[in-house]
Amino acid sequence: MATVTDFHQRPTKPNALTAARITPVGRGAVASVRVIGESNGLNVLVSRLFFPRNGRRIEHQEIGRIVFGTWGRVDGEHIVAVRLDKDRIEFHCHGGDAAVSRLLSDLDQSGIQIVDAFQQWSSTTSTIDMECLEATSRATTLRTADILLEQSSGILQSAFDELTTTAKSLVGNADKIESESPSLTALIQKIEALLQWAEFGIHLTEPWNVVLTGRPNVGKSSLLNRLLGYDRAIVFDKPGTTRDIVTGETAFDGWPVRLADTAGLRSASHSLEAAGIEKAVERIQSADLCLLLIDVSQPPTSEDRSLVQRWPESLVIAHKCDCDERWDDELPTGVIKVSSKTGEGIADLQKELVRRLVPNVPFPGTPIPISRRQVDFLRHARDAASMGNVGRLL
Ligand code: GDP
Repeated sequence: MATVTDFHQRPTKPNALTAARITPVGRGAVASVRVIGESNGLNVLVSRLFFPRNGRRIEHQEIGRIVFGTWGRVDGEHIVAVRLDKDRIEFHCHGGDAAVSRLLSDLDQSGIQIVDAFQQWSSTTSTIDMECLEATSRATTLRTADILLEQSSGILQSAFDELTTTAKSLVGNADKIESESPSLTALIQKIEALLQWAEFGIHLTEPWNVVLTGRPNVGKSSLLNRLLGYDRAIVFDKPGTTRDIVTGETAFDGWPVRLADTAGLRSASHSLEAAGIEKAVERIQSADLCLLLIDVSQPPTSEDRSLVQRWPESLVIAHKCDCDERWDDELPTGVIKVSSKTGEGIADLQKELVRRLVPNVPFPGTPIPISRRQVDFLRHARDAASMGNVGRLL
């Protein structure tokens, strides 16, 4: 069982000097190499390789300032360096392979250990910041990457540290913690505040799942294509064409969404179709949102009616609204009128999808748990704390 201390552990500073290429391999505009390690050794070594134009020694360069200079005394490569703090320096050079290879080879020959960027981070970064950085590398949109990057700057780590401090002081101050103790209530509130963003945090790396459903031929494949912006599913006039689940990923307003087109939901005429329908039902039950399509160019059928009744939480789409509408008074309230043929209503649908999937967006600076491990721990911590078992968390 994880304890809050697992999340509190900070790595010890490594003595070994390491260098890592922190930009992707391959040509780019700029390539970056970060060198870290104990400051004295770092400064001595870097001074032999990097010659700042302003003539000052590396340890006398201001932290955070961009310093122009050359790499090597003879035939020096023009580069810039930035001291991130006393133990870390970043070098930015031409993005071609030659420049970065020269930097790494010189560093290697000087006895610096060359490692990959994650290896280097893990030696100086807390587990939580590492988890956030790793998640950032898997983010599929700029919006989610921004949030994850912000979390990796210590915001989430501080929130977990605060839990540790509160839990420790509670355990230290009493043999038995009363369930009405204000500090215990405060601890539970802090955990709840983090858990409030659990689902949102997980979705920063796992797309929200939206399922399209409705009886065969209502236009699910057509709407999926419209929303994805390309032809993916097979569109065919014959009912039951889409037997398996076809998925595609996109983003609405910067939020990653996986769309799944299910088998037409009707009484299957053979087993292959029945298997597809079963999968569809499972998919709807586990989805974050279900779009239930009705074809308003046709009068309502008993299948339409029973689907609307069966999935009351779904967002009903009055599809094929480019045609004469045949549902009259039976059209459910709150439907969104959409035509995949003309594009009418698509923008409204996208807005409504975002409103339903991401009703609240945290303010910048809000700590957000971003992995299942963190969320599981917080849930467990809340349950234990609710029973006064704070000691079990440490
Ligand atoms: P699915 O079985 O629910 O996936 O339905 P399809 O996407 O295969 O579409 C069934 C039929 O409806 C095809 O002939 C489409 O061209 C047609 N269709 C789909 N969307 C629209 C629409 O918005 N307007 C009109 N008029 N026809 C559509």
